Amino acid sequence: MSDARAATEEIPVIFLHAVERHYKQGDATLYILKGAELAVWAGQSVALVAPSGAGKSTLLHLAGLLEHPDSGDVYIDGKATANLPDAELTATRRNQIGFVYQAHHLLPEFSALENVMMPQMIHGLTRAEARKRAAELLGYLGLRERLMHRPAELSGGEQQRVAIARAVANAPRILLADEPTGNLDPHTADHVFSTLAQLVRASGLATIVATHNMDIAARMDRRVTLREGLVVELD
Ligand code: ADP
Ligand code: MG
Repeated sequence: MSDARAATEEIPVIFLHAVERHYKQGDATLYILKGAELAVWAGQSVALVAPSGAGKSTLLHLAGLLEHPDSGDVYIDGKATANLPDAELTATRRNQIGFVYQAHHLLPEFSALENVMMPQMIHGLTRAEARKRAAELLGYLGLRERLMHRPAELSGGEQQRVAIARAVANAPRILLADEPTGNLDPHTADHVFSTLAQLVRASGLATIVATHNMDIAARMDRRVTLREGLVVELD
């Protein structure tokens, strides 16, 4: 348990409570989450390790307020989200939550720097402010010499580091990563993950990373899996 937990005792940054999610598939109903519980505190990193199809992406989408539970609720800083108006959901998502996917989804026409500036300018920062923070973040992630490169001019590992910088550009409280190193070779995956872990520790983010990589999972604060639609602690 990190020191950050003690400082913010009790209230998790993110809390999935009794979360149920099912999908209709023709006549059948697929029950994916059946009352899942997961609390993550500031500064804490959780690895979500489960087989393909178990519901990892579903859980992350629910935690990221991109999908809504069929029952149960997702609390952000102690605040229930089930009945929030759309505008407030969007604002919470934009200000509090950063998402990293397996594919980087960077805008191909823009430089690394511009890709990280963009969410900040949407958030209302001036170009100069956004540029300063973007350069700092990219420098912190080891990309000082790559600011003007477009995504196609970057390696896979560099692209993912830019995607991480973009996800935290607006200083969210929560970072959700869905197999962020799944497309990378083991050595590069390890490097990208180290950078991510360093950033999480320095910024006090509450982090959930879905991964198949056990080396990566072993270096996080907690490991959980999905069993019969429930979140189960692994150690
Ligand atoms: P994971 O990320 O662990 O591989 P997912 O959360 O993507 O698993 O999916 C869990 C299960 O839910 C899978 O069997 C998948 O086919 C099903 N599923 C996910 N999204 C939908 C959807 N929109 N409609 C129907 N079934 C879905
Ligand atoms: Mg998935």
